[in-house]
Amino acid sequence: MIAGHGPCSYVFQRLLKLRPTNIVFLFAASYLPDFFDKTIALVFHMTGRGYFHSLTVMFSLYALTYIAASKFRPDYREFVHLGAIYYALHLIFDFPDLKIIFWPYLGPIQRTGHFAPLEHLNNYYILWQHPGMLSAEIMFITIFIILKMKDSKPAKRIFNETICDETD
Ligand SMILES: [Zn+2]
Repeated sequence: MIAGHGPCSYVFQRLLKLRPTNIVFLFAASYLPDFFDKTIALVFHMTGRGYFHSLTVMFSLYALTYIAASKFRPDYREFVHLGAIYYALHLIFDFPDLKIIFWPYLGPIQRTGHFAPLEHLNNYYILWQHPGMLSAEIMFITIFIILKMKDSKPAKRIFNETICDETD
């Protein structure tokens, strides 16, 4: 999954009845493993799924942010838990190799010759090399759009609030 991680987290937030959070926070936590690993891959010529797709890094970040929140902002601890859930959902739906998910216990993560993001996107979205995962991604994005439209104010009410209030 590539673009579907944020919508996937949103759908699970609703399914599991988790505390609604700012959408920016939800998306940031959902894409965190890719943000770091893709950056590392581009700089150090490694695979697009690396250290930040491992349970070791996930639990380390979880522990560090929980300790920091407990010391400085105890009211933020709930957001640390939620962020960890969205991070874990990313790992579940990426389904990385066991060597990556259990790094460093099953050996080092292999370096690839180069990381080509455009080739990766082409293989995924144009050539449909992973149709099952792409289908899941399309499903999550569709449900996300439907839920957001359902949550948003009807167009008529927005019109009344923004246009009519100004003329009153
Ligand atoms: Zn990923």
